[in-house]
Amino acid sequence: MEKDKAPEAIRMEEELSACPKCGAGRGFHVSFLRKEGRSLAVVLVCPSCGFRFTVGEWSFPTGEPRPYDPSIDSGP
Ligand SMILES: [Zn+2]
Repeated sequence: MEKDKAPEAIRMEEELSACPKCGAGRGFHVSFLRKEGRSLAVVLVCPSCGFRFTVGEWSFPTGEPRPYDPSIDSGP
């Protein structure tokens, strides 16, 4: 698997359930890539050839508490 390589951005049509690289069907595995801060990007991985790719901007917050910020968190 090419873990150090950035996932390729795939432009899709009506449906995407087969690997854009090797053509293996039945969907994909999912992995996560930490973006800056407290956000994770979803990366799709072909279970057959390991091709990693993204489809649009698919990310979500980690739910981790934000770091201490003195400008907000310090009292009056
Ligand atoms: Zn594949």
